[in-house]
Amino acid sequence: MRVTHIKLETFMVKIARTREQEVSCDECAKHSARLIEALMQGNVQEKELLDILHHVLMCMPCSQEFEVLQDCARMDAEDSWPSLDEMWKKIEQSK
Ligand SMILES: [Zn+2]
Repeated sequence: MRVTHIKLETFMVKIARTREQEVSCDECAKHSARLIEALMQGNVQEKELLDILHHVLMCMPCSQEFEVLQDCARMDAEDSWPSLDEMWKKIEQSK
């Protein structure tokens, strides 16, 4: 199930309307956990988080990292954590 990904597309429309603003990869990493939480609640309204989301969508390394984090958050929510081995495989695959 990839509910959060469907939501991402909805937010892209919103983001397209927001003004271009530079967010660094560092800043992106700092706020990504908060952004995922907001996405999972389907409630991304803070300008700051929208800027981060915009960066994630535009920046390849960050989007790959974000994907892994999002999977982790989803598994956490569903309480379906894989073994450590499976998790490392996932991280390796995303590189
Ligand atoms: Zn980045």
